[in-house]
Amino acid sequence: MTICGNCGAEAVGGSSNCPRCGTPLPADRSARGLGIASLAIGAVCAISAFTQALIDYSGDGRFDFSLVSLISSIAFWLLVGFPMLSYRRPALFLPVMAATIVAYLWGLERLTGGSRWFLPIALPIALAAMAAGGLTALACIKARRRGPNIAAFILIGCSVICTAIELILSLGSGGSPVAGWSAIVAAAALPTALLLLGIHHRLRRRQPGGAGS
Ligand SMILES: [Zn+2]
Repeated sequence: MTICGNCGAEAVGGSSNCPRCGTPLPADRSARGLGIASLAIGAVCAISAFTQALIDYSGDGRFDFSLVSLISSIAFWLLVGFPMLSYRRPALFLPVMAATIVAYLWGLERLTGGSRWFLPIALPIALAAMAAGGLTALACIKARRRGPNIAAFILIGCSVICTAIELILSLGSGGSPVAGWSAIVAAAALPTALLLLGIHHRLRRRQPGGAGS
């Protein structure tokens, strides 16, 4: 919690401006701590990538495996360290995280050579997982009353992701679309999700003024 230096109002939940007068608030301790942790993660990633580049180059005068380490370090910081700095602005860090995942997979394919798996397999799986994960998170955030329904949303989201992965893998490898192991996951997850939604509905009806999901 931060106290506004202008009007004395209390701001909670990591607000960057005073809720009463709009004055910009100083960064609270948790934000400062996250900033330091983000810098520390960045420093560890940089030292690790630099050390591996030195070892790699001293071997044969070329950069080979250390390039994978370099892009992994950059991706790791963008996925873990950057949200720590910008957690108040999900509209900023969520697109950065999505772009990082796609760019990292593409870079990995280019650097490791061999078969082309980015366009037919990795990109569709990443996009499907991000879309299903994003919709699941949105359903959890928008739920007016949270309870067993959150577990149900997560189960449905996981089932959708598994089905998408299996379909993309079978299509990407030139086969016909099949639902094998993902059908087993769905057969276990979806009835459980329906049961949890039913329990949530019953619990909600018992609560005074219970409406919405
Ligand atoms: Zn104020």
